[in-house]
Amino acid sequence: MANPQTTGLQVRSLDLSAARAALWLAGTAFLALLALYFVGIDQGAVSLFGSDSHVHEFVHDARHLLGFPCH
Ligand SMILES: [Zn+2]
Repeated sequence: MANPQTTGLQVRSLDLSAARAALWLAGTAFLALLALYFVGIDQGAVSLFGSDSHVHEFVHDARHLLGFPCH
């Protein structure tokens, strides 16, 4: 079993201050909402790329897996 003291591996602690945690939470929520938009909502008139259906086709299986209406 590897011991960090004998292998020279250094493990840094995470900075979990409230401001940093809020920043991580905001970033994670933004990326999650962006993914949710592209998987579930980006279609037809509300599509960011107009009538281009590349995004829709790329996430098509995920859309059906998560139960979003499609066809
Ligand atoms: Zn479909």
